[in-house]
Amino acid sequence: MSNQTEKLTVTVNGVRYEITVTRKQVKRLTLRIDRQGQPCLTVPVRTSRKEMTSFVESCGEWLARHAGKRSFFSLPSELRNGDTVMILGEERRILLQRGARAELVFLERGPVLIMRDPEDAVKAAAAYKKALTDMAMNVFRERLRRYLHVIPRRYGTPEIKIRMMTSRWGSANPTTNEIHLSLYLIKTPLECVDSVVLHEAVHYTHMDHGSGFYDMLLSYMPDYRKRSAVLKNYART
Ligand SMILES: [Zn+2]
Repeated sequence: MSNQTEKLTVTVNGVRYEITVTRKQVKRLTLRIDRQGQPCLTVPVRTSRKEMTSFVESCGEWLARHAGKRSFFSLPSELRNGDTVMILGEERRILLQRGARAELVFLERGPVLIMRDPEDAVKAAAAYKKALTDMAMNVFRERLRRYLHVIPRRYGTPEIKIRMMTSRWGSANPTTNEIHLSLYLIKTPLECVDSVVLHEAVHYTHMDHGSGFYDMLLSYMPDYRKRSAVLKNYART
């Protein structure tokens, strides 16, 4: 008999995990993280979905430690009406609505993703990524405008490029006049976005992280280290 593979979605402490389940001739349920950082569950052949869910929930702390980093620096591969998404530091339920082109709008009841085919969860995830990137670009540009006075005037307005960076939040290259920002930064609070934007703006004057760099940075943002600590926590969750 060949092993059967199925998917199980479990939300533990507000974090949604998509778990690959393999039913096998084994006695116990085992949860592990594969090389791609994805949680995998091996269960006895006749285990119910309910048993699997409560088992995964009981492993919440372990999951957050081992799969947590992956879950923050990622976007859903499938998205359904009412799923939880993280935008600007807030977990919100997203509504999917039919419309002509992919767009993310914010109404009082929460974020609404407008797209052509909201019933298709894979297409919805792709539309969400595109709409979130557009939104991030608008937010990042607007925040950079607030710190343009930090950048020597000859540079004008640097070009922002959004990357799916997971190992750092941003980088600045005065030679090409580009600031690269991680898309995942849009998942953190605005005060954290500002701290990264300002950090990169200061690099236009100080390329290294020496005392000159921090003196200038802290003169514009005295609570920079506090904001950095918040960011570090996001990277860990
Ligand atoms: Zn730096």
